[in-house]
Amino acid sequence: MYASVAQLSHPYRRQPMFDYDLLVVGSANADLVICVERRPGAGETVLGSDLALHPGGKGANQAVAAARLGARTALLARVGDDAHGRLLLDSQRAAGVDTAGVLVGGAPTGVALITVDPSGDNSIVVSPGANGRLTPDDIRAAPAAALLTASRVVSAQLEIPLETVTEVVRGLRPGARFVLNPSPPRELPPDVLAACDPLIVNEHEARVLLGADVGGTAVGGTPEEWAGALLALGPRSVVVTLGEDGALVADASGTARVPAVKVNAVDTTGAGDAFTAALAWRLGAGESLADSAAYAARVGAVAVTRQGAQASFPTADEVAAG
Ligand code: ATP
Repeated sequence: MYASVAQLSHPYRRQPMFDYDLLVVGSANADLVICVERRPGAGETVLGSDLALHPGGKGANQAVAAARLGARTALLARVGDDAHGRLLLDSQRAAGVDTAGVLVGGAPTGVALITVDPSGDNSIVVSPGANGRLTPDDIRAAPAAALLTASRVVSAQLEIPLETVTEVVRGLRPGARFVLNPSPPRELPPDVLAACDPLIVNEHEARVLLGADVGGTAVGGTPEEWAGALLALGPRSVVVTLGEDGALVADASGTARVPAVKVNAVDTTGAGDAFTAALAWRLGAGESLADSAAYAARVGAVAVTRQGAQASFPTADEVAAG
């Protein structure tokens, strides 16, 4: 089924001397969750459930997901000098993530204020806080520069400034692989796009990156068409995640579907982060894009059978058993 996607060959497969399998550069947020009967209107106050406080943010999530699978993982992020920052540092360390690259101070830790209604729908307000203060200068300085040099695969998302992600791309070690999940989506500079191997998007992100048209028609075509149009933007490879329909991988040698694992999903929060972390780790181990995505789909499938984001991420043994 995956025969059309060639085994990728990368120079780092002949250079095993990396201290980290994966360096995640991205956001770290405190998720503050309250369940409500209904959301307040303007000027109104409603009572809700007890507050639940969870470590989150796409960067922090991906780092925990990779470390739990057994990857030697480091996180490059910024948190505030406050209780939420300490919660995030503690949760990273508990998962086995190297936090030497987590900078502290400059603004309060990023916060996501989440209300959940009885139907399970979320409303979310994000205060980026310290995430927005992770600057290109931070990437050029120690310890970030040393971490970039020591990492086989580097993954990023867009909950930190785009110019910071651009600086990460400039600092990549020759032979290192760059993986980008452009979430929240926005237009990307050509040098960032050209470094992506792969660019990982869900349907919403694909639509935003592609703008209004694919091949002259409104974006509505098939995921194969989206992947083709995304490849034309410049990345070396593309992965489109399709929720319960699995994923699709594409590179210059062709496209292939990755079927989803059939499970009883209870909470899909963080599935994309678990998928991305697992994919990045397996790519770094030298597996093909299609095989890495198939493994990542198994990881995502386990994650959706459990409540929460970081709390739902499986170990490699749990993936093997699932
Ligand atoms: P999120 O933003 O909620 O973290 P996402 O939209 O970025 O997620 P999805 O496509 O929802 O990403 O999920 C990532 C991967 O996880 C999918 O490609 C699929 O392999 C797996 N997955 C997600 N939902 C399900 C499901 N209901 N059943 C089985 N596998 C799933």
